Amino acid sequence: MHNETLRPETTPSTLTSFTPNVDASKLNHAPGSLVDKYGRRVSYVRLSITDRCDFRCTYCMAEEMTFLPRHEVMSLEECLQVAKVFVGLGVNKLRITGGEPLVRKEAMWLIERLGALPGLDNLVITTNGSQLDRFAPQLKAAGVKRINISLDTLKADRFKTITRIGDLSKVIKGIEAAQAAGFKRTKLNAVMMRGTNDDEFVDLVQFAIDRELDLSFIEEMPLGEIHGRNTTYISSEETRELLAQRFELIPSTESSGGPARYWRIPGSESRIGFISPHSHNFCDTCNRVRITAKGELYPCLGQNDAMHLLPILREAPGDEAPLRQAIMDSMGIKPFGHDFTQQMDSPQVVRFMSMTGG
Ligand code: SAM
Ligand code: SF4
Repeated sequence: MHNETLRPETTPSTLTSFTPNVDASKLNHAPGSLVDKYGRRVSYVRLSITDRCDFRCTYCMAEEMTFLPRHEVMSLEECLQVAKVFVGLGVNKLRITGGEPLVRKEAMWLIERLGALPGLDNLVITTNGSQLDRFAPQLKAAGVKRINISLDTLKADRFKTITRIGDLSKVIKGIEAAQAAGFKRTKLNAVMMRGTNDDEFVDLVQFAIDRELDLSFIEEMPLGEIHGRNTTYISSEETRELLAQRFELIPSTESSGGPARYWRIPGSESRIGFISPHSHNFCDTCNRVRITAKGELYPCLGQNDAMHLLPILREAPGDEAPLRQAIMDSMGIKPFGHDFTQQMDSPQVVRFMSMTGG
């Protein structure tokens, strides 16, 4: 390991591993902003506020999950402190995620404070929708700009099979509650799985059109030990070909600031997005990092390099300087990208998506 040039003052316990050949003096630390060694500016953080969830989606979690003990999870105050430091470093978009963020006790305490943070223009959330009928009005009042809701199927029995526990009708109520609360451009996320939901892609698009929702299809990623991903994987292109038999898809240059590429259907307001980490690698324009509920800063979803913020937070509570320094230094371990395609049956990233935050 080659770490002496990166951060001499970093205690070894705060870094898991390092990208070789990183010279901190060559990092482009423009004052007040985060720029990695490939010149990519980080302006977007995905913050997981819990590893727990009320579903157990088959592609995301093992059936028997062991969740983190409470003392290993960042407190909501610690989450807020981390967010404040990122915003001070030029981050203007933050996605609250998990696990299921809305099952975290007192999640609204944090969300209200994030919504009031000057400089954070774009506070958004990804949820499975199960708690949205209760929380949608509060999220709107707190200043959340948009909601992504995961929905892989419109069939109740299939929904139960995929989520192992979930109730589709609650999620549909959640979608309706988000719209009733005044959220615009609410987006559905559907993971594409051959033999599981590929017969419903047309119906999912029609559902989105009818309800004036956006919809993104996601290529399945090899995160955590789940067998058989090679047989369920479907590329975005294959799905577009299938959809083209029913809809006219017009490529669009619109962006929501994330990895999705969008298509439009004439006569509809819905945007149909594709998140294609295999077939259209988007690493060259990556603008984001992820923070797990444990306070690990992962500069790349598909790699194992991490900066551990929790010991720093707990060693000097309230002192933002070491935290700020660690976050700036994490730019030195942001790898160029991932290689998911080679790993579908033997993932190099052993943590599940629910641990890292989607
Ligand atoms: N619980 C919330 C939800 O389901 O929306 C937020 C967290 S979840 C981990 C975020 C997103 O990651 C969801 O849209 C989910 O479908 C997606 N996801 C989980 N595991 C995945 C995998 N292995 N490949 C692709 N997407 C995955
Ligand atoms: Fe929970 Fe979301 Fe993972 Fe499903 S995808 S198990 S809802 S964290």
